[in-house]
Amino acid sequence: MAYVGRFAPSPTGPLHFGSLITAVASYCEARSHAGKWVVRIEDTDIPRIYPGSEEHILSCIEAFGFEFDDEIIFQKDRLNIYESVLNDLQQHDLTYACQCTRKILGSNHIYSGTCRDLKLPHDQQAIRVKTSNELICFEDLLQGQHCSNLTNELGDFVLKRRDGIINYQLAVVVDDYLQGMTHVVRGADLLDNTERQIWLGRLLGYPELQYMHLPLAMNKDGTKLSKQNLAVALDLTQAPQLLNKAIHALGQDPVDLDQPNRMLLQAIQQWDRKKIPVGTTIQGVFE
Ligand code: GLU
Repeated sequence: MAYVGRFAPSPTGPLHFGSLITAVASYCEARSHAGKWVVRIEDTDIPRIYPGSEEHILSCIEAFGFEFDDEIIFQKDRLNIYESVLNDLQQHDLTYACQCTRKILGSNHIYSGTCRDLKLPHDQQAIRVKTSNELICFEDLLQGQHCSNLTNELGDFVLKRRDGIINYQLAVVVDDYLQGMTHVVRGADLLDNTERQIWLGRLLGYPELQYMHLPLAMNKDGTKLSKQNLAVALDLTQAPQLLNKAIHALGQDPVDLDQPNRMLLQAIQQWDRKKIPVGTTIQGVFE
């Protein structure tokens, strides 16, 4: 089977060691299957873009020796595509406008469908997709079976915010389809998003993807490395050493300290998915 994988960072902060683990694993998985590997910048949430992080992502890809296929896609240039998919969903009565403010919704994280039958005009409102009361399950290559009933656990969810911003869930599903993705390798922090994405893909008639959610690198205080936690930005001058650490964190055999692209070639040759640590976290100090 043809393999197409991707690395899809959001430029909400500079890449950190956890991002490097995702990049290395998605790259080695794709290349060890003789597959394609593409890079996509997920920048639809303009207010959350952190200045300079897009440039940092691109410099990291180069400095760490990753060779991507195709052109890099920037989601902010593709808003018309997501809008047209939203239109299709609307034509099929699969979405609706929602005027509930955060204040109305309060701390309840499950949306009860208040606006579902109000038939509000679609402009200037949030757009939600209808979920159905059924169990959606998938078999993750690392985490095993994962299931969710979206109606009970989340409710109809937002595809476009009231401020016009296209939600990550929609953009990711549309682009994975349009880029011919077959496999998604990413951090286990996104495990709980997967059923939403599978549901959207089903509504749109897209083929289902194979998922692999990597354990997350944790700080010594037990929190995950993240842009929100201000994890240390990847230092481009330390590329070989950091690559070594990432390969080690992924449980793989060590590679010789060399130019990053040669280290990655060796990592691909030695790549063994079964050696990735079991679970959703990797303990240690990774900054
Ligand atoms: N853009 C997301 C992030 O940086 C990843 C999306 C994905 O891999 O599906 O967390």
